[in-house]
Amino acid sequence: MNLILFGPPAAGKGTQAKRLVEGRKMVQLSTGDMLRAAIASGSELGKKVEGVMQRGELVTDEIVIALIEERLPEAEAAGGAIFDGFPRTLAQAEALDAMLAKRGAKIDVVLRLKVDDEALMTRIAGRFAESGRPDDNPDSFKVRLGAYNDQTAPLLPYYQGQGKLVELDGMGSIESVAAGIDQALAKLKA
Ligand code: AMP
Repeated sequence: MNLILFGPPAAGKGTQAKRLVEGRKMVQLSTGDMLRAAIASGSELGKKVEGVMQRGELVTDEIVIALIEERLPEAEAAGGAIFDGFPRTLAQAEALDAMLAKRGAKIDVVLRLKVDDEALMTRIAGRFAESGRPDDNPDSFKVRLGAYNDQTAPLLPYYQGQGKLVELDGMGSIESVAAGIDQALAKLKA
């Protein structure tokens, strides 16, 4: 099974992805984590994306599509991928569908974690001081939220049109959101 965790920055996608990895032995494919690893390693790619990421803007489609393509065989071997923070644009979503189709696979479900902007700002305010992420500051976060609303949220009708979109309340505790995800996945199998 391949699923997408969809939602704005700080919606809890990474936390829920890690839980699914432990429980279901799927592979988490987080383009944000891959890009941060590239920066930490001092690679050419890292140098190229560092400023863009720090400002909270999106890196190019070409870069993230290549990162995902490289990791698909690993996810396939594990029995499925949890896409976390990818796709973020329509071009990425279409590329993902094409890459999977080429391998005889598909996205099974898109789990949208709904969190309103105000709750998000409160959540993230507590994280700024302790996260250590250079893009966790009020200015960059505003840009990240803007990028989500302008470039990523328009993917919702794309996945709704494919009949894959499941909306979940992302405002509750980690456990209650996890329970919602489990319920949605159980329904999928039924
Ligand atoms: P994340 O950890 O998912 O919040 O991503 C952190 C940052 O990495 C984003 O603000 C973007 O600068 C970059 N990034 C991660 N994933 C993507 C993506 N799919 N498309 C474009 N930029 C991305």
